[in-house]
Amino acid sequence: MTIDDKTPFPVPNSTVSFWRAQPDKLDDHRSTEGLPSECDIVIVGAGYAGASVAYHLLDNNPAPPSIVILEARQACSGATGRNGGHLKPSLYASMGNMSAKYGLEAAVELAEFEKAHLHSIKDLVEKENIDCDFQLTRAFDVFLSRTQSEKVKNDIEALRMAGVLLPDVQYTPESKAENVCGVKNAKGCTSFTAGSIWPYRLIIHLLRIALSRGVNLQTHTPVSKISETPDPFTNRWTVTTSSRGSIKAKKVIFATNAYTSALLPQYKGKIVPVRGICSRIVTPENKLSPYLPNTYSLRWSPTIYDYLIPRPDGSIVVGGARADYLSDLSNWYNVIDDSKLIEPAKDYFDGYMQRHFHGWEDSGAYTDRVWTGVMGYSSDYLPHVGCVPGKPELYIIAGFTGHGMPQVFLSAKGISKMIRENRPFKETGVPRLYETSEARLKSTENAILAAVEGGTLKAQL
Ligand SMILES: Cc1cc2nc3c(=O)[nH]c(=O)nc-3n(C[C@H](O)[C@H](O)[C@H](O)COP(=O)(O)OP(=O)(O)OC[C@H]3O[C@@H](n4cnc5c(N)ncnc54)[C@H](O)[C@@H]3O)c2cc1C
Repeated sequence: MTIDDKTPFPVPNSTVSFWRAQPDKLDDHRSTEGLPSECDIVIVGAGYAGASVAYHLLDNNPAPPSIVILEARQACSGATGRNGGHLKPSLYASMGNMSAKYGLEAAVELAEFEKAHLHSIKDLVEKENIDCDFQLTRAFDVFLSRTQSEKVKNDIEALRMAGVLLPDVQYTPESKAENVCGVKNAKGCTSFTAGSIWPYRLIIHLLRIALSRGVNLQTHTPVSKISETPDPFTNRWTVTTSSRGSIKAKKVIFATNAYTSALLPQYKGKIVPVRGICSRIVTPENKLSPYLPNTYSLRWSPTIYDYLIPRPDGSIVVGGARADYLSDLSNWYNVIDDSKLIEPAKDYFDGYMQRHFHGWEDSGAYTDRVWTGVMGYSSDYLPHVGCVPGKPELYIIAGFTGHGMPQVFLSAKGISKMIRENRPFKETGVPRLYETSEARLKSTENAILAAVEGGTLKAQL
């Protein structure tokens, strides 16, 4: 498929997130003036997924493959460079739905995999000495609706009865919730271990490591087409860029998230671009605001919620604002334009801390920056990881449904096991439900729209 105005390719002039306000030297990096004519592996996309796959392919590898990373815009300029920085495993929130649909064991596997990311990322940051403001903390899920709070309490009890003990999850009822979490009108809350991070810095660091191990990174190089060469035994695939020629490669990895269906049309409707909005709130220097030691999600309903991380510099990054725009699909569903804000939600974050947090009323906190980004929502809410069905040596790692921070890094490790050790998907440690498959591509389910229309979305951030 070639570029036209109906396919989801990254747009120019994206809004500038707080994370990307001072771009790194690698932002516009090109390792060589022209593209190499061939390589072992092309990775399309230099976000969290692309950089993580490169990391795992080369970590401790005495016989490293030659790798070229092709990125349409700047390095880490997609969802990863514009997200909420919240590394929060979904321990019970989606478990009820997933368990009803796929069985308890598969649902527990999902939660355990997400939880494992907390320590994997902590270990990575320590091992590679990455300056990315990583903090291991606790997250509060705060329920502003009594019905939802009761439901969560019952869900957690049911899971415990079924043997899923969730030792790290604490539920606080309405009588104590405001005191414990500091959020006005809280009708209940849970807390559990989570993390916060500067995602752009993490990924730029991983890309820097990749370059030091011989990777050729080419930014501002959109891929327009992948085609099979006549010679499947050497370089099976030709990767064509929109203006810089083509590369022949043995294997191609699609780390293209929201934009995947532009290159792999079989994923159209299966990974849908969904636009989101995020902000940074700061307190004036002459004012005091209470220190927040935890991250938060404020939930008014299963579909309407915000997510928030306090930063070491005292600022707050808040995303969501769904209450202001979700009812009109043209604001967000199948929307790839992150060069504009979501108009109905652009002022949502003004006065946010004063409205919702005790002690912030006189803080003078104000919105310093607002930006948008495009997530790749999967139509069944599960990422697509593994071999592209029917396409030998093509791999996908995409569709993280606005929740990639606790899902991508170990999925990338799984892809690297498939390639480095020739392991089948089931031996990668990646949850079975993540495996991309013909059956998933054929399914007509659209959980994204069903969630909004039926109010059954299990918010995950
Ligand atoms: C506003 C917002 C807030 C979010 N908040 C959180 C959060 O707090 N916690 C959380 O867990 N998740 C959050 N997410 C989701 C999270 O950011 C993603 O799940 C994760 O970053 C996905 O990483 P990725 O590498 O798959 O995608 P991306 O970072 O989008 O990377 C894909 C890359 O592929 C490139 N690309 C695409 N097509 C082509 C092509 N044809 N040629 C060349 N390059 C191409 C893109 O330019 C892009 O750089 C948020 C997302 C957004 C947008």
